[in-house]
Amino acid sequence: MSLGKLIGVGLGPGDPELITLKGLNALKSADLIFYPASDIYKSNTKSFSLEILDQLEIETECVPLLIPMTGKNRDAHYRNAFNKIQNELAKGKNVAVVSEGDALFYSTFGYLIKLAQDTNVECQVIPGVPAFIATGAEGEKPVTEGNQTLKVIARPNNFEEIEEALKENQTLVVMKMSVLDNWHDFLKKQNRSFFYIERVGTAQQYSTSNVQNLKLRTIPYFSLIIIYG
Ligand code: SAH
Repeated sequence: MSLGKLIGVGLGPGDPELITLKGLNALKSADLIFYPASDIYKSNTKSFSLEILDQLEIETECVPLLIPMTGKNRDAHYRNAFNKIQNELAKGKNVAVVSEGDALFYSTFGYLIKLAQDTNVECQVIPGVPAFIATGAEGEKPVTEGNQTLKVIARPNNFEEIEEALKENQTLVVMKMSVLDNWHDFLKKQNRSFFYIERVGTAQQYSTSNVQNLKLRTIPYFSLIIIYG
């Protein structure tokens, strides 16, 4: 039996209408869909990708791909996950792996595709709208213009790193910003125009460009900020 194909599909950041037609069609015609689920969801057992999938009109079977969020044994976790996928590909099934946002932008699929390429599995990647692009649209302000530069930082180690990046007059996107506390004080000091968002594209979306609103706010994992150049 010939091996199935592995298809990475970007779901977009949360609004089910933000998946591409190509992505939706690929999910409909796949034999199986894996969605990443991690232990941060233990409290509500769902995954963010599953929340999006549940709103799409697809009948394909959806199976969780557990990837613990711990920094430890990362490679082993990805290998285990890939083994599960491989078992299905070996049955000749075409397997889709979904990512929220884009499939190769800070995504689990980025690790999986490398493992797939090592084993000569046939792959296809269907892009999705990344969360920061959807955030730019919600901000209703150009993210970059003219010859401006855009920099993306993920999981910053400290505010100094961000301050350094802001010295150049570029637009800065900070992903996984919840690792730092006290954004209010930092942003107040910088006095730069920004747009902060939580869970863009979902019913729980919250956004603000007013620093005062961040004073008492707990920053969740699904949040990001655009600091304009
Ligand atoms: N593949 C995704 C990024 C995943 S990394 C993409 O293309 O956008 C996870 C980080 O992305 C989160 O910590 C957060 O900073 C950001 N993120 C993803 N989805 C988001 C959403 N709906 N709202 C706000 N931030 C989001």
